[in-house]
Amino acid sequence: MRKLFVKGCLFDADGVLYRGSEPIEGGPEAIKQLRAKGIRVGVVTNNSTRDHESLLRKLHQLGYNFRIDEILSSAMMAAEVIASEKKNASVFVVGEQGLINELKYRGLQIITSENEKADYVVVGLDRQCTYEKLRIAMSHIRKGAKFIATNTDNTLPQSNGSFIPGAGALIAALKAAVGKEPDLICGKPSPFLYLKMLEKMNLKKDEVLFVGDRVETDIKGSVVAGIKPVLVLTGVVTRETADQVLIENKIDPEQVVVLHSIKDLPWLEFIGSLADNT
Ligand SMILES: [Mg+2]
Repeated sequence: MRKLFVKGCLFDADGVLYRGSEPIEGGPEAIKQLRAKGIRVGVVTNNSTRDHESLLRKLHQLGYNFRIDEILSSAMMAAEVIASEKKNASVFVVGEQGLINELKYRGLQIITSENEKADYVVVGLDRQCTYEKLRIAMSHIRKGAKFIATNTDNTLPQSNGSFIPGAGALIAALKAAVGKEPDLICGKPSPFLYLKMLEKMNLKKDEVLFVGDRVETDIKGSVVAGIKPVLVLTGVVTRETADQVLIENKIDPEQVVVLHSIKDLPWLEFIGSLADNT
């Protein structure tokens, strides 16, 4: 195998670092080993239901000692983009408390009625979404509010093996109602989340690997962003279905490193600090 030296590894969270409320076996140890080799690590997740404090708390509870500058979620990205475009912007949210908190952290004004003016409508996963919320969101977009989607995952796997509708299902409903695509999709497979994280960590795309469990978001997005993808089999794809799912998503299986789990990552021949090689 050709030796590929990297400075950093970026990870998806659910299905890669943990499954539901359980860490992937050997995962926390693997992250420590990568750090010990001088490889920088970061988490890039489409999850829009947690604010950064809650996400860090969950990672810490599962044994992963990531810092605030090493995590980026679609909720954090939405808040950052809006705050950089318009200070104190007013936002109508179809989403949960974590997303609302994240927008507030950035000094954005949350509005809840149809009568106030919204600069933005942000849509993420909302397990309490009502027809009324979608109606108000539609009204704001028709009046000129920018339509921001946190992520477009249509389904969300549950720890018992079942699925629930994801943020993408709600966004699809609103898209149909307003007759237009979102002005911005923050999450994977859009390249923005990857590129923002590289900027945050001051790394270049050819200096990192992206480790994910979903081909249509993690792996597809890595390829689009120009980052070497690693597919792990602790999430939604099995060894038997991996090649087929990659081909269905128009990705050459030769381009993708497939590993059973992140536990195997520190032992790959190609993992090593760029600094060691120069
Ligand atoms: Mg995942």
